[in-house]
Amino acid sequence: MTEPTPVRATKPRQVRPATEGWTQQKDAEGRPLLQFASPKRGKPPVHLADLTPEARVEKVKELGLPGFRAKQLEKHYFQHFTHDPAQMTDLPAEGREQFVHGMLPPLLTEVRRLETDRGDTIKFLWKLHDGALVESVLMRYPGRITLCVSSQAGCGMNCPFCATGQAGLTRNMSAAEIIEQIVRANRLIADGGLGDPRRVGHEGERVTNIVFMGMGEPLANYARVMQAVRVMTDKKHGMGMSARGITVSTVGLVPAIRKLADESIPVTFALSLHAPDDRLRDELIPVNSRWKVDEALDAAREYFEKTGRRVSIEYALIKDMNDHAWRADLLATKLNERGRGWVHVNPIPLNPTPGSIWTSSDVDVQNEFVRRLNDAGIPTTLRDTRGKEIDGACGQLVATEEDAAVAASVPAEV
Ligand code: SAH
Repeated sequence: MTEPTPVRATKPRQVRPATEGWTQQKDAEGRPLLQFASPKRGKPPVHLADLTPEARVEKVKELGLPGFRAKQLEKHYFQHFTHDPAQMTDLPAEGREQFVHGMLPPLLTEVRRLETDRGDTIKFLWKLHDGALVESVLMRYPGRITLCVSSQAGCGMNCPFCATGQAGLTRNMSAAEIIEQIVRANRLIADGGLGDPRRVGHEGERVTNIVFMGMGEPLANYARVMQAVRVMTDKKHGMGMSARGITVSTVGLVPAIRKLADESIPVTFALSLHAPDDRLRDELIPVNSRWKVDEALDAAREYFEKTGRRVSIEYALIKDMNDHAWRADLLATKLNERGRGWVHVNPIPLNPTPGSIWTSSDVDVQNEFVRRLNDAGIPTTLRDTRGKEIDGACGQLVATEEDAAVAASVPAEV
């Protein structure tokens, strides 16, 4: 009998999160700074989309018109994607401009638009009233059109692998600034501006899916994001979109996840986990110092229980950092401990960001990670990320100095 030859497993490499080319802001205790409160800046003008249907009627009356005019404005803006008084011939000509301006003040000035070769992915750079810059990314897929929206200018969550976090939080966006991104995208689609000219121009085409995966942490701007979601889904007074087509993605603000589960608006919920163990996640996602992996997963599970909606776990695969086979197994164990059929995993190969020292995992490592989760009974699909060539993919949205220079030369819309 011969002894089995011991297989000496080569120890998998383990690199730890660090930054290169930029310095992560730290708090008084030397931990990565977390910014939950929005810095005080001039508020954007109040807009129809910031208000409840009742408050819109009140505001219309304040401006000296009968309340039913609110309904007409809702139709122009949410259904026909216009805030141009010249097109609103059903409103009295006298004082129309002033009235429309009062209800639908301009919020976003387009600074730049980048497209991929085929024209089916478009990244917009917008300037807000106070000069803050945000981006949104519009993507045409077979059978759906998705808009990735920003919910904050900048982000306070300070994740070292994401470009948006590097400059910190400028401010929260208003509900109407979030909605206006969709209205502007819908206008472009209606004008035939998205995709192969042979395929575009389908009557009535518009954005079908929204992902809160642009700049910002949506749950850190909870009230405004929820007002925006209500406007998106309101059939009578808003855009009439399906809640299932709206994905709210978070780093894991546990109390806000619980609140979201109680809203009875069944949006799709995504948790940006990126590591199944606290040791790594503490460094990779600084908010893990507040709410640990297990707490975030418990809250995600509760979301499923309350809404019946299967949740998504986002997992950027970073070479030698979080892509180890044992981490795939640990993730599967933690998810299966909380039940079956409630969750799926979306690994995303890391997108490069400026100054980043990390790269995405090798393809065979990616495939092995996916295989192990699927074998453990967790539906897992590698997500295709669009827009890398225009820096429009996940984690790549950031306003550069060059953007700021261009923005400064663009006059604000009036
Ligand atoms: N703050 C929210 C939403 C914005 S980010 C959140 O973190 O969920 C949208 C998704 O892109 C998140 O899952 C985020 O972790 C991921 N992401 C960030 N940087 C990335 C990068 N460089 N490559 C791939 N995905 C990234």
